[in-house]
Amino acid sequence: MHGDEWRDTSELLLNLSTTPPENGTLAVIPIVDNGEYVSTLDKRYYTTLGSRIIDAVDSLHPNTYVELHSYSAANLAKLTDDNRINKTGVPAYIELKDGVLLGSVAPYIRLKHFQMDALCISFEIQKNSERSIHFAAKLLDVVKNCVSRDDFIEYLEDKFPLQAKKAIENYKSFYGL
Ligand SMILES: [Zn+2]
Repeated sequence: MHGDEWRDTSELLLNLSTTPPENGTLAVIPIVDNGEYVSTLDKRYYTTLGSRIIDAVDSLHPNTYVELHSYSAANLAKLTDDNRINKTGVPAYIELKDGVLLGSVAPYIRLKHFQMDALCISFEIQKNSERSIHFAAKLLDVVKNCVSRDDFIEYLEDKFPLQAKKAIENYKSFYGL
């Protein structure tokens, strides 16, 4: 999405688009930006580097939106820190498996460009980790074939019950639901 993250994420996204989803339409932006790093928590991200994301969302109105990010192993503790909410204003990421983390997307895009019943998630994959990339590919394939938020929640509750519980709790308390 930003900085050099595309090095670990673009190929996954390109592979994902080689076969269409069972239902619906898949749109992929394999590289948003190659260079400057602006955090997606910075409101300027979506109006500058990430403006093509907003253009795509506003014209396609997806009911599912996934961001793929990558992180260095050294930042794992920071991303999954229970205190992240107090430090950055957004909930901590939750590790699913093999260094793949599940989180929400920036409130700016969530609130301004999506219906509340849309599924908006963010995956962080660990840089230079084959295991992480491999599992992320499987996960993206699952999401690709989900037609609603409930479909994905059902998958998560089945395969990762503890993480599902935490993710739903975080989401509800963050948006005051
Ligand atoms: Zn990122």
